[in-house]
Amino acid sequence: MTNKVKDILSKEYFSRSDIISLLSVDDDAERNLIFQKAAEVREKHIGNNIYLRGLIEYTNICSKNCLYCGIRAGNKKVNRYCLNEEEVLTCAKYAYDQNYGSVVIQSGERRGQQFIESIDKLIKEIKKLSNGELGITLSCGEQSEETYQRWFESGAHRYLLRIESSNEELYYRIHPKDENHDFNKRLLALKHLKSAGYQVGSGVMVGLPFQSDENLADDLLFLQKIDVDMVGMGPYIEHPETPLFDLRNKIPDPKARFEKTLLMIAIIRIMMKNINIAASTAMDTLDNEGRIKAILAGANVLMPNITPIKYRENYQIYKDKPVLTEADELVGKLEASPLLKDYHIVYNAWGDSPHFGKRNS
Ligand code: SAH
Ligand code: SF4
Repeated sequence: MTNKVKDILSKEYFSRSDIISLLSVDDDAERNLIFQKAAEVREKHIGNNIYLRGLIEYTNICSKNCLYCGIRAGNKKVNRYCLNEEEVLTCAKYAYDQNYGSVVIQSGERRGQQFIESIDKLIKEIKKLSNGELGITLSCGEQSEETYQRWFESGAHRYLLRIESSNEELYYRIHPKDENHDFNKRLLALKHLKSAGYQVGSGVMVGLPFQSDENLADDLLFLQKIDVDMVGMGPYIEHPETPLFDLRNKIPDPKARFEKTLLMIAIIRIMMKNINIAASTAMDTLDNEGRIKAILAGANVLMPNITPIKYRENYQIYKDKPVLTEADELVGKLEASPLLKDYHIVYNAWGDSPHFGKRNS
């Protein structure tokens, strides 16, 4: 098998069956060959930099009912909140003072006019308080083309919208099948984000019930085909107050989900070379050094949570999401980690996806 892995890794492009073979590798030496290759590709194409985005979990109010998510509208146990403008700007100021370079505003999916205007105002105010220096990424779900354009014009320039699963059948196993959770609308939203001018990020959850290596290979090919600029992938983690929790015996164990996510990160790094890849917070739920390992596998973006601590327990999209880690503590841990001695955290930079620059030149 080692030779087979080596052969695949020496190819310019991976076929579907190549990716499936790589995803099924479980021998440590062979896995290390994949991680090594990903590290080489990363160093050659984008260097060993890590970029920071302060993550602001703006509101847990959501109109959707994704079957896996702890803050789905149907979960009546959640205390709903929405940060006020001052709270958001205090977070943004913190990111600015810490020289993070960028912030991410993430939220449940809301579409009312008031929500659209609030986000718009926040974008403008964050730009103002940072003299235009803070980069702004949004992750506020599916919106109309017009809304995406408006927010872009106001100063947001990156957007994260995971496809969750690129397989339509699996998509409907993890979402209600109704017009509020329409697979084709999600695809269309990704198109609109691109045409509005954003650097677009997408990704999937890894280790979902019914998900096969074939599905995951197709997910990677999908991300390549739609030519994303950024990828955010994380392990699926069951939440007891969701319908998908009933299928918790049908998913791989936490270690297997974690390891598979690392492979997914490494393979997409090799396939797409100069994109930005986030080390997702969910990695830390499954492994103490989860995000560090994600960086070693090919990720180059870290999103320390800067949401005021008192709100964080209400933004539990999955079980055991870390709520107490302070952003500066996390960054300090990375700065001090011997595992990351060959990497360096870049401050005061947007850390845009080089892929985007090339795509548009
Ligand atoms: N409402 C927006 C953004 C917030 S949710 C949206 O859905 O796009 C951000 C991400 O959290 C989702 O894209 C999903 O991939 C992830 N997520 C939700 N529930 C999860 C779970 N149980 N385990 C792991 N990730 C989850
Ligand atoms: Fe809402 Fe996003 Fe959770 Fe779906 S994943 S329920 S859209 S917050």
